[in-house]
Amino acid sequence: RTEEMLLEVNNIEVIYNHVILVLKGVSLTVPKGGITALLGGNGAGKTTTLKAISNLLKSERGEVTKGSILYRGERVQDLSPSELVERGVIQVMEGRHCFEHLTVEENLLTGAYTRKDGRAAIEADLEMVYSYFPRLKERRKSQAGYTSGGEQQMTAIGRALMSRPETILLDEPSMGLAPQLVEEIFEIVRDLNQKEGVSFLLAEQNTNVALRFATYGYILESGRVVMDGPAAELRENPDVKEFYLGMS
Ligand code: ATP
Repeated sequence: RTEEMLLEVNNIEVIYNHVILVLKGVSLTVPKGGITALLGGNGAGKTTTLKAISNLLKSERGEVTKGSILYRGERVQDLSPSELVERGVIQVMEGRHCFEHLTVEENLLTGAYTRKDGRAAIEADLEMVYSYFPRLKERRKSQAGYTSGGEQQMTAIGRALMSRPETILLDEPSMGLAPQLVEEIFEIVRDLNQKEGVSFLLAEQNTNVALRFATYGYILESGRVVMDGPAAELRENPDVKEFYLGMS
């Protein structure tokens, strides 16, 4: 692949609790401007891969024991999650993770915590987020815990956008949402990618929808990449059709 590379994961191994080997040598790249999908069933290691990249494994007693992770050519394995945010990489965790007692707008503003530019720039970005998520503007004064699952997912993505990221690691955005909403959220991801230039690494069990929106895909099985290629090619691959798209 000839595009400019942002993220390079080289042959990483992850072990939980010193003994449970979960990633057995995973390599992948995320080019600037792409939507890269990380696919695979329950327990394949998608979340572990994202957490390894954003250095969130420690609290789960997990560690990267082999391999390297580079962002713009520099090793980022020893950076804290907030240092990574300052480099332009932010993770939206699975399960949405809003601050339930804060309003939608307060949640969005917490995403700007690493920024050093002034209030006007932050206000402008709040409007940018609302332009992609008009529903959030309507709900901005509502307590996040009382908004719908789809609105909470939107709030979580909007909150990440408030840090002005170059790359978003998005974990399972479709989880628990009705098909119509999944479609809506993926369309917004595509818009953000095309209009704001945000690059995505997207972990998804829903292969069908992910491969329609992604530019490139990796398929993980039991902690290994078993296949990768441009999304359009994966969609036509007979094995992918049979095992992941539910048709042959
Ligand atoms: P899901 O869609 O369920 O999130 P996934 O592909 O993201 O699946 P992971 O959550 O990365 O998969 O889990 C990969 C494997 O690692 C699973 O077998 C899981 O049981 C194991 N695992 C995850 N977290 C831990 C942990 N903290 N300690 C021990 N094993 C773990």
